[in-house]
Amino acid sequence: HEISPFLDPGPRTKANSLAILQLSRDNLLPVYLQPPTGEVDGYAEGAVVNTRYGSFPHSTMIDVPWGSQIRASKVDTGSRGRKRKREATTDVEGVSREGTAAGATNEQDNEASVTANNSGSATPASVAPTVKQAIADTSGFIHILPPTPEVWTSSLPHRTQVVYTPDYSYILHRIRARPGTVLIEAGAGSGSFTHAAVRAVYNGYPREGEKRRRGKVYSFEYHEERYHKMKQEIKDHGLTGLVQLTHRDVYKGGFLVDEGKSPEADAVFLDLPAPWEALPHLSRRKPRGFDVGEEGKKWVSPLNPKKSVYLCTFSPCIEQVQKTVSMMRRLGWVDIDMVEIANRKYHASRDRVGLHLNFDRGVNNSPKDVEEALKRLTEIEERTRQHAARAREGGDGDVEMESGDEGDVAVKLEDTAAEQPQESSSSSVAPWLEGRLITRGEPEIKTHTSYLVFAVLPREWTEEDEAAAAAMYPLGK
Ligand code: SAM
Repeated sequence: HEISPFLDPGPRTKANSLAILQLSRDNLLPVYLQPPTGEVDGYAEGAVVNTRYGSFPHSTMIDVPWGSQIRASKVDTGSRGRKRKREATTDVEGVSREGTAAGATNEQDNEASVTANNSGSATPASVAPTVKQAIADTSGFIHILPPTPEVWTSSLPHRTQVVYTPDYSYILHRIRARPGTVLIEAGAGSGSFTHAAVRAVYNGYPREGEKRRRGKVYSFEYHEERYHKMKQEIKDHGLTGLVQLTHRDVYKGGFLVDEGKSPEADAVFLDLPAPWEALPHLSRRKPRGFDVGEEGKKWVSPLNPKKSVYLCTFSPCIEQVQKTVSMMRRLGWVDIDMVEIANRKYHASRDRVGLHLNFDRGVNNSPKDVEEALKRLTEIEERTRQHAARAREGGDGDVEMESGDEGDVAVKLEDTAAEQPQESSSSSVAPWLEGRLITRGEPEIKTHTSYLVFAVLPREWTEEDEAAAAAMYPLGK
């Protein structure tokens, strides 16, 4: 079984697999990397992602380590491009326009540092099909990230409201989702929660005839188009066998699968407009006084009979919470508890505003002007070089460093790193020498997402359990 890139992306990007392009900090674009379709005059030909930061042929993004920075390429849009317009338009469908539009409103964080180096970095380029203006004069770089539930949540095509990372990480923890857990989810929506859930419960793909219980997500969606889109995504993401999607209205039809079998779920997550309508189906015995569409049939519970089941419902309004809680009480759920996640982002960085910081060590030795600063940096570089050389020769490398030098070295190394953007920005300098740590919080918490209601349905004490206990500890003796 080829393992899903969400579960193990391997060390490098692959052709025909999903990658997430990070155009700027909050601008992510999912792309299936397509291998080159051919070669013209020694140049690869194939799909290109066009963004406001430049053009990125897929051929330059295949078989590179995850996290790499990818430089924009010069792309030939000449007569060959025009001749091949029809064919090429299909290649680029879904990436170029999306990329361009998405990039248009965002500032690239370090745009300035790359423009100068653009034309020199051209790799054999693909024939760019259309979108000429996109490659005209803006160019830069992007980063290529492996798909994870977190980046997928930030980049997925929204078909509905989705559950975001701060909520789902807390929910999965509270409902005890772990490798081997069987989890029921409804509705599937855009699949944001589904991807996080499958990673949490994954303990291998199920094998034919295998007895061992594998972690699995049973997902339900009644909207036909969303169901089909999600089905395709599960396949494309290598999650078949780990996520089983059913097209159903769970208020009416409940949660049994494969024609009346129980998923034997240990955990449940309901992101539905009326969770209380789905709750009667999540009973251990046929609930009295509710129409669960099982008239005259033997009741099959979708829950694991051997464990307490952990449930979370996700509702934006307090009135929904009240109805859900009432229904939970009627149906025997306990430990009912409501939580609202108020997530706040903190931005943390090292402040390297200027040289002055690094001289701010209680010693009044600030350089007078840029020339003096440069002179000092050159001296320090020379001393650092000597230090390293002596250490290599086996000596203790003891070169006298002046007070404040460490700061200067930090600046120097930082400058050098900026000149070498390709994967080498990590220097050996201690982080605390790279400037003061500054944290900045959002001034206020932005939005209310939803109220999370948690509850537990205890494991049932059956007649068999009673008999087994009585045999073990006979009463009256
Ligand atoms: N949790 C999802 C995510 O993270 O992407 C988003 C779920 S979305 C807010 C709610 C979904 O529930 C919608 O796609 C809707 O079609 C589906 N839904 C609503 N009522 C349903 C029902 N009775 N049975 C099954 N699905 C239902």
